[in-house]
Amino acid sequence: MILPGATLGMLGGGQLGRMFVTAAQTMGYKVIVLEPDANSPAGIIADQHICAKYTDETALAQLAELCDAVTTEFENIPATVLSYLEAKTVVHPSSQALSSTQNRLVEKAFIESLGISVAPYAAIRSMADIDAIADSFTFPAIIKAASFGYDGKGQAVCDTADDVRAAFAALNEVECVLEQRINLEREVSTVLARSQSGEVTNFPVSENVHVNGILHSTTVPSSVPEQQAQKAVEMADTIADGLGYVGTMAVEFFISKEGDILANEIAPRPHNSGHFTLDACETSQFEQQVRMLCGLPSGNCELTSPVVMINLLGDVWGSSQPHWDTLLSQPENKLHLYGKKEARPGRKMGHFNVLSDTVEQATKVALQTFEDLQAD
Ligand code: ATP
Ligand code: MG
Repeated sequence: MILPGATLGMLGGGQLGRMFVTAAQTMGYKVIVLEPDANSPAGIIADQHICAKYTDETALAQLAELCDAVTTEFENIPATVLSYLEAKTVVHPSSQALSSTQNRLVEKAFIESLGISVAPYAAIRSMADIDAIADSFTFPAIIKAASFGYDGKGQAVCDTADDVRAAFAALNEVECVLEQRINLEREVSTVLARSQSGEVTNFPVSENVHVNGILHSTTVPSSVPEQQAQKAVEMADTIADGLGYVGTMAVEFFISKEGDILANEIAPRPHNSGHFTLDACETSQFEQQVRMLCGLPSGNCELTSPVVMINLLGDVWGSSQPHWDTLLSQPENKLHLYGKKEARPGRKMGHFNVLSDTVEQATKVALQTFEDLQAD
């Protein structure tokens, strides 16, 4: 076990890194963040910030030298960076687990190899690939860049093969996946923690609403029938085992109108849909990340209250600050801001959790608060 007093390394300086830093520092660890941006959410609160590119070998060597263990908040860290660090210190998740989730095509093939279904898809690497599937593919569809996408970026909805051609060209013909657009009944996700000895602890399944491809709200308990929720948890655990994963991770699922449960994406890190755990679970997803990294036993993941989480994107700022007074004067509301200076549309600036005796009441307060925040 790596015990308090030790130093932990975090690759990436975003909000997920920041919430890891807070959890680790609360438990008595020191944290060093490696991040190229001089003013990042995690970097500004860390014990030390190494301001360098993720691929800077001198910086990586320094991080490995100073840290008892290193983790990441960002799946697009080159797997070679993690394998470099693995030779020098404790690293979780592994470079191999990360490399299975960085490319959508590799990820989907891996998920299918475990007997878990994904949305019907085709690999698009050339215009000829589009010609080949033009007659057989079921539209509407969504084309997604295979690598480096997040928050719906690098995606386009396509109703015809010609739409796919145009979108593929607009994406500079990078490797893509074309996914059948699923008729969604719901979206859910599951966050779990898996230890070095393979024990898995699951947080309760959350129900997610996305707006323009970006998570808007998470509700727990979800309205998903218990059997379906259980199935999603089993699938996520199978994926974690298959990856030999160590740490906190999440799996996003589509539930179709036909009742199919399809794995959408794996997040090899804590997940936005797990932010409810900060206020509504005995242990947060970030404390679990610290615990798994350090070889400590898992904390209790039980839900302590019905909860609705709402994301605060830069859009909510408009030309001024949101009305924090209205949010903070409601005792049910818990505000989390990430310390980002510039509020841009679509940029994740923070979130708030609403805790109530019932999901209905939490939903009501969440909707009202979100509206009041933006009122002129
Ligand atoms: P993030 O990493 O932030 O979750 P992303 O850019 O990786 O986002 P996806 O998870 O692939 O994007 O898609 C974002 C959202 O768009 C989904 O949660 C869903 O609401 C919608 N979406 C994506 N693909 C499909 C699909 N095949 N059918 C129906 N809806 C979809
Ligand atoms: Mg997603």
